[in-house]
Amino acid sequence: MHTKFTILFICVLSFINLKAQEIHKRSLGLMGSNFDITVVAQNKTIAQAYIDTAVSEIYRIEKLISSWKPESQTSAINRNAGIKPVKVDKELFDLIKRSKAISQLTDGAFDISFLAVEHLFSFDGRETTLPKKEVITASVRNIGYQNIILDEKQQTVFLKQKGMRIGFGAIGKGYLADKTKALLMSKGVKAGIINASGDMNTWGTQPDGSAWKVAITNPMDKTKNFGLFDLNRQAVVTSGNYEKFFTVDGQRYAHIIDPRTGMPTKGIISATVFAPKAELADALATSMFVMGEEVGINLINQLPDVEAIIVKDDGTLVLSNKIKINSK
Ligand code: ADP
Ligand code: MG
Repeated sequence: MHTKFTILFICVLSFINLKAQEIHKRSLGLMGSNFDITVVAQNKTIAQAYIDTAVSEIYRIEKLISSWKPESQTSAINRNAGIKPVKVDKELFDLIKRSKAISQLTDGAFDISFLAVEHLFSFDGRETTLPKKEVITASVRNIGYQNIILDEKQQTVFLKQKGMRIGFGAIGKGYLADKTKALLMSKGVKAGIINASGDMNTWGTQPDGSAWKVAITNPMDKTKNFGLFDLNRQAVVTSGNYEKFFTVDGQRYAHIIDPRTGMPTKGIISATVFAPKAELADALATSMFVMGEEVGINLINQLPDVEAIIVKDDGTLVLSNKIKINSK
């Protein structure tokens, strides 16, 4: 009798507990981007404490990996290009190692050493001229993930050529979303969404038990979307050339560089990739611009649990095998 009562009591308690779960969200500008952090928690105070933890984690990672903060380890690697190997934290070492693996997977379309040419262009939407061919050719020699030398034992990174530079613009936000999610999960947060300006990772479900959903905006008409997609603990990332781009003779170039030519890419307006991790989704979304829709979707279709929606600049859609669009 007594035992039954206890069980009943616990049931009532957990019911109250379940009912008390609420969604709390904070939007903030971090690293020049817009971040939304959403957690499911019992009340606002608890939620705010979790969100504070997430924000500190984002700052910590930015300090480590940013290529434009002079005090970061990434900047130390860049300053020592062609000079000497630099010892780094395991976290950064592993990120570079995974970046190189994605370069191999994408046949060099994704390459963190793209940064050697980035200073030649300004991607602020203004009409401009292209740099001289010789200038691009001289800098493109310094792109090449094969020349990022990793020494596992010493935990060092060496950029073989002077003039080489690495940057995580196409993978860093995805990595941040994954890491922040993992940290909050380890603190006991049952469900949430980390949205690093369009690079999203989710876990758990909404308080009513339904899956987190994401609407993918149609870049050709922002009032429309391609429908609602269930995320089910998955990540989704959209890369688009509609925010950062420039035009030359009416041609629109994306802020994504083709590592083979050193030239910005054109032809694709946006690429959305679904994957188990935001890091992979982020890197692959960027790679689609370089690979082109045909080769790109072909790669996506060979990867387990990875799907993509590509919008070409004439408005045509290219979809991976399992994507079903319900509105256009
Ligand atoms: P967004 O910044 O809009 O989220 P992406 O995830 O596609 O878009 O990242 C684009 C950024 O990636 C560029 O601004 C640049 O910093 C970096 N980048 C450009 N070209 C390449 C490339 N071929 N490989 C890896 N990173 C790249
Ligand atoms: Mg990307």
